[in-house]
Amino acid sequence: ASEGRRPLVAGNWKMNGLLSSVPTVEAIRDGLSPALADKIDVLICPPATLISSCVAAVYGSVVAIGGQNLHARPSGAFTGSISAEMFADLGATYVIVGHSERRAYHYETDDGVHAKALGARRAGLRGIICVGETMEERQQGRALDIVRAQLAIGLPKGATGADTVIAYEPVWAIGSGRTPTATEIAEVHASLREMLDKLVGEEAHKIRILYGGSVKPSNARELMAVENVDGALVGGASLVAEDFLGICRAY
Ligand code: PGA
Repeated sequence: ASEGRRPLVAGNWKMNGLLSSVPTVEAIRDGLSPALADKIDVLICPPATLISSCVAAVYGSVVAIGGQNLHARPSGAFTGSISAEMFADLGATYVIVGHSERRAYHYETDDGVHAKALGARRAGLRGIICVGETMEERQQGRALDIVRAQLAIGLPKGATGADTVIAYEPVWAIGSGRTPTATEIAEVHASLREMLDKLVGEEAHKIRILYGGSVKPSNARELMAVENVDGALVGGASLVAEDFLGICRAY
């Protein structure tokens, strides 16, 4: 539920998809009714190899295309890396920053997330900054402290609703089929909103906070109705057009 914030339903394909997957984006494009396209923003983040094809596929529609990660610098001797400018050059408009899989497998730190978020802004991309606690941290009662610290360090100064989205993704909910209760999500999102208020003042009310982790058509309505949840970041279910559309139709 968003007070005046336009919901965003974003799909993260992770390391999935070949050229043969572009029709999935076309099916998502074609499956959004005009009424729904009027109400929500829709984004697909395919692997970098598919950005060009997907941008071409959604041309003229409401579906936006984004990257899943970036290098903080604009260019240079960083073999294998892709900059925000390169994503923007292809027509991408968003980029995910600090996904828990990047943090876990690529040792991304909160300072690294901050640098990447600045890189996204420099190139005119909207950064989706991900935060989330592990199960161990939740059991220790540290979930709020962890996500608040991730946000405080990761968020660039002067972030606005136009250039920044936050995604709360409990690590233990990602790909597990488990989700926090509505009460637990509401608690974290309220705490993140309060932290945003400390960090950027009034603009806090314009920055969308998505929920991510095992969002499916069957639970989307309940999850999206939680206070301060301004949309979803969807992994597995974004790989199947009908599942992703089912989540969009929660609105
Ligand atoms: P999931 O992934 O929807 O497959 O749980 C969410 C994510 O990692 O963004």
